Amino acid sequence: MKTPDFPPMPLETDPQQVAQLAQERRDEFEVLRYTLEFMEEELPDDVLDALVEEIAAPITAAVDCTQCANCCRSLDVYLTPQDADRLAAGLHTPPEDVLACCIDRGSAEAVGEWGKLRDRPCRFLEGRLCTVYDHRPQSCRTYPALTPDFRWTLADTLEGAAICPIIYNVLDRLITALESGL
Ligand code: SF4
Ligand code: SF4
Repeated sequence: MKTPDFPPMPLETDPQQVAQLAQERRDEFEVLRYTLEFMEEELPDDVLDALVEEIAAPITAAVDCTQCANCCRSLDVYLTPQDADRLAAGLHTPPEDVLACCIDRGSAEAVGEWGKLRDRPCRFLEGRLCTVYDHRPQSCRTYPALTPDFRWTLADTLEGAAICPIIYNVLDRLITALESGL
C-alpha cells in the first residue's frame, strides 16, 4: 500500500473545540464507520490497523494529555483485580480499604467487568494530573486504544471522538487519507 500523504499539523487540541467539532461531524464519522465495513476486502483489517497506527503515532506524540485529562473527567474507569492490587500497593493501603472506598463491583459486574472506579471525574485526578500515575489501571494506560480491530471497535471509538483530541484528530486524518484514495 502506498503511504498516504497526510496533511501537515496543526492539530485540534482544545477539548471544548474538539467536543463541538465532533458533534458537528457526527454523521460524517458514522459514514466513515459504514464505509470501512464495506471496504473489508480492499482494506483488510491488518492494513487498516497499520494505517491507523501510522496516523495516530505523530498525533499521540503531539497531544499533551497533561493539558487535557478529559478522559479522566468524563469516562468510567474499569479495573481488574490486578489493577486494584497495584493501586493499593501504590497508595500503601490495604486492598480491602481500596475496594471499600474506591471500587464499585456491582455496576461493573452488570456490564461484565470486575470493578469500576467509583467517581467521575476520577477521584485520583488533581487539576489535570493523575496522582496515582505509576499505579493507574491498565485501561488508563491504553486509552484511547484504537487498534487492534480498529474497524470493528469503531462504534465505541466514535463515542470518544467528542472527549479525546487524539481520537478526533485520528478520525479527521483517516477521512482525509481515504478521500485521497490512500
Ligand atoms: S487513575 Fe489516573 S489516569 Fe486513570 S482516570 Fe484516574 S486520574 Fe485518570
Ligand atoms: S487520552 Fe485523550 S482525552 Fe485522555 S488526556 Fe489524552 S488527549 Fe485527553
